[in-house]
Amino acid sequence: KSALVWFRRDLRCDDHAALYHALSRYQQVYCAFVFDTDILDALPSRQDRRVEFIHASVVALHESLQQLAAQHGAPGGGLIVRHGSAGASIVRLAQELGVQEVMTNRDYEPQARARDRSVAQALEKVGIAFSDYKDQVLLDRDEVLTQQGGPYSVFTPYKRAWLKRLDAFQLKPYNVARYASHLAIPSKEAPLPSLEDLGFVRSNLQDLPVLTGTEGAQQLLRDFVPRMAAYQQARDFPSRKGVSYLSVHLRFGTVSIRQLAALAAAQASQGCVGAQTWLSELAWRDFYFMILWHHPMVVNQSFKAAYDQVQWDEAPDLWSAWCEARTGYPLVDAAMRQLLHSGYMHNRLRMVVASFLTKDLGIDWRRGERFFAEHLIDYDLAANNGGWQWAASTGCDAQPWFRIFNPITQSERFDPEGKFIRRYLPELAHVPNAHIHFPAAMKPAALQACGLRLGVDYPFPVVDHAQARERTLKRFAILKAEP
Ligand code: FAD
Repeated sequence: KSALVWFRRDLRCDDHAALYHALSRYQQVYCAFVFDTDILDALPSRQDRRVEFIHASVVALHESLQQLAAQHGAPGGGLIVRHGSAGASIVRLAQELGVQEVMTNRDYEPQARARDRSVAQALEKVGIAFSDYKDQVLLDRDEVLTQQGGPYSVFTPYKRAWLKRLDAFQLKPYNVARYASHLAIPSKEAPLPSLEDLGFVRSNLQDLPVLTGTEGAQQLLRDFVPRMAAYQQARDFPSRKGVSYLSVHLRFGTVSIRQLAALAAAQASQGCVGAQTWLSELAWRDFYFMILWHHPMVVNQSFKAAYDQVQWDEAPDLWSAWCEARTGYPLVDAAMRQLLHSGYMHNRLRMVVASFLTKDLGIDWRRGERFFAEHLIDYDLAANNGGWQWAASTGCDAQPWFRIFNPITQSERFDPEGKFIRRYLPELAHVPNAHIHFPAAMKPAALQACGLRLGVDYPFPVVDHAQARERTLKRFAILKAEP
């Protein structure tokens, strides 16, 4: 009896739910990954850091599976890799291999759910079973419900219930090695496709401090664990190395969420505040996956339906200024340059630029969400949608609409010496600390002293924050009638 494990956003072979279940039940287990043309062909550019990250991680997974098989007396092993429409490719492969079951880790995004439903139906027609497993998150679907039996929409009580449910069983790793001798040898397979075979060219990924595959994730983790205790104090300052930078690995499953949570929970139980806070961030991640699962309409609609009455502006010039990092607000521009250069943006800055787009520029959160979807290397629909709806005040448990970040005071608080700003805006290198947060307020003599030509070297602000704030309060005022 044999099974096929379909890898998607879980590019590792340690502590892997579907792989473990397949190996423990079947004598022969094949592993496959499909470079999905339904997704790849829709990408706006042929140069995409994510495709490169996935490609490198798939190559590493193939090698790890071969090693695992060899260590357990099943020489061969490895990954069967296809390039085509994922659903159809998997159904065809399962038939070619003659397996009894296709097993995979659960996906929570509406499009992926629809794809999986149609794959399950197509397989059923040819007598092959389909099953999916929780792996991407710690607690999913209905595992954390309110006392009334419904999904939570407020984070704090959700987290309380989540922490209670997160016991040793939930954190236990899947011991894949135990049954690794069941890994099957794929019959003569063509070599893995190169990035060019997939129709993509290299990005700047190799020049960035982004390490791919499970090795890359473990290296980041080793670096972060000793810093976890300081997470609480350091995490809000983009110029400091305060966060883990593991998001891209969580996105593509090159690290197990259980490994991370177990490490954090162990330190948290010793009273380590940094670990408790970091564990909370992992709870936010589960929370947004749970919201997406129960409320798939959030992809295009505000979680709070009444907020879809808010009239946003088209503002093409303001939109381009935001996208191109030339708003005249240094922290916003430095953050956008970080995104454009590296595909990453620090969490504090994601909040600042999202608030700036929606509440200073009056532009619909959906457009910002899409822009992030194109550029973020760690783009994850659940967290990105949750983050944008939080900042725009349209989401569940969101920032209240009348709380509007001031981009200058945010900059003074979280980048006091302008270190982060100067890293990404070298044109402001010589601006003194007192003015780095808002050079537009400098007197001509001060501008001359540091050689900055406003409107030439650095733009004038595209909006006045105080006036923009008033406009936003009016824009949202229609909601005052809401409970
Ligand atoms: P750490 O601070 O080390 O946190 C550890 C992990 O916890 C992260 O890797 C992430 O998986 C999870 N996490 C942390 N904060 C959040 C949060 N607020 N919501 C959900 N999960 C969280 N995160 C993404 O992974 N993908 C996105 O597309 C994404 N888009 C965002 C958009 C906006 C507007 C905002 C405000 C936040 C967004 N986030 C997103 C959440 C957060 O900014 C990133 O997870 C974090 O910056 C990644 O860096 P890190 O791994 O060093 O985080």
